[in-house]
Amino acid sequence: MSKEEKSCSFCGRKQSEVKKIFSSEHCTICNECVNTCSTILVKEVKKEQYKQLNQTLPKPDKIVEFLDQYVIGQEEAKKVLSVALYNHYKRIENPVYDNVELEKSNILLLGPTGSGKTLIAKSLSKIMNVPFAVADATALTEAGYVGEDVESILSRLLGAANFDIELAQRGIIYIDEIDKIARKGENSTLGRDVSGEGVQQGLLKILEGAEVYVPVKGSRKNSTTETVLFDTSHILFVCGGAFVGLVQDKNTKKSNKVGFSKADAKKIKTKKIDSRSLVHYGMIPEFIGRIPIIAELKELDKEQMVRILKEPNNALIKQFQALFDMDGIELEFEEKALEAIAQKAIDKGVGARGLRGIIEEFMLPLQYSCPSMENLKSCTVTEGVINEDAEPIYSYNTKEEEAS
Ligand code: ADP
Repeated sequence: MSKEEKSCSFCGRKQSEVKKIFSSEHCTICNECVNTCSTILVKEVKKEQYKQLNQTLPKPDKIVEFLDQYVIGQEEAKKVLSVALYNHYKRIENPVYDNVELEKSNILLLGPTGSGKTLIAKSLSKIMNVPFAVADATALTEAGYVGEDVESILSRLLGAANFDIELAQRGIIYIDEIDKIARKGENSTLGRDVSGEGVQQGLLKILEGAEVYVPVKGSRKNSTTETVLFDTSHILFVCGGAFVGLVQDKNTKKSNKVGFSKADAKKIKTKKIDSRSLVHYGMIPEFIGRIPIIAELKELDKEQMVRILKEPNNALIKQFQALFDMDGIELEFEEKALEAIAQKAIDKGVGARGLRGIIEEFMLPLQYSCPSMENLKSCTVTEGVINEDAEPIYSYNTKEEEAS
């Protein structure tokens, strides 16, 4: 029985020329052709996924509805952002529409610390199901200096996308403390120093949508020295900063409708901070020019802080209640107790960020003692627990309840 060497029915290469050959009754295929087909298929599946994403692109009002589940208050900012996000992903699908070139619009969030800037940006990535990365502008340095360079932000996004470059290129990056890299100008006593300007220049490159080589850090598949060409033209950049002074002064200045057409501005009556005042603050004009959408977040009041404690899907109160529930204990909070927690956070001056620390502090002794208290049915936290170190109100199961 003569056995002729098999060859691939697709490319014609002989078995000896390839690593592996698969055969059926009628044909054969080599490992290289399998690889090529697989790459094509994966690309097509991805294309299909992106197409579906576009078809299911939520309308601005749906985006606000989604944000409402996570972010309390900040209604105006949510509106501005929902429109910006909607337009951004429409633009990705149609960079040129009817001969009109649609330009990318990055976003600037102005607002005090702990008002929800990072939370909003992160929630936007959740609704779009795209990867998200956070960077701190103060940790960034100009190229060539010791510290984090601008490319490292993209590396992080790539990591968040599980090293899927296509997906990473549609992600959202939040750059915090952008006001801290303001140039210290003659007119400004704020900002860091002249080198802040260098960082702004560095960021400009990626905000503009340049293609940059990015080190592939942390991938098990790749060595640390490997780089990948990263196209930043579809990345949505959200920059955040408190811009202390500027935000407080804004009411005395005439507002400018930055980044909105007249029609948009009519529909959404938001007070915009003048881009000139941002330049005066020390941001370079080219940088501000790349961030045309400006949304302002307000300082949270006591009532909103109370809502943050109990309403969002992963509200702090709900988290502690779940932990107690696992021990069969009902954990309750009197409204006055929640108000007392909110007041403490306001006094700290770090916005909603302070809530967790305050709760952890008074919950620690309760989390220590309650699990081993016999027949404990419920534990009610009162205002006294927060303000005067008082004991909470306990109730106990009756013998019959315990037996059943
Ligand atoms: P910022 O970026 O403005 O300094 P963050 O978004 O990091 O503030 O907020 C810190 C934490 O406080 C968030 O993780 C969230 O738990 C809570 N928080 C802040 N603002 C809000 C808000 N408007 N709604 C719900 N939770 C909020």
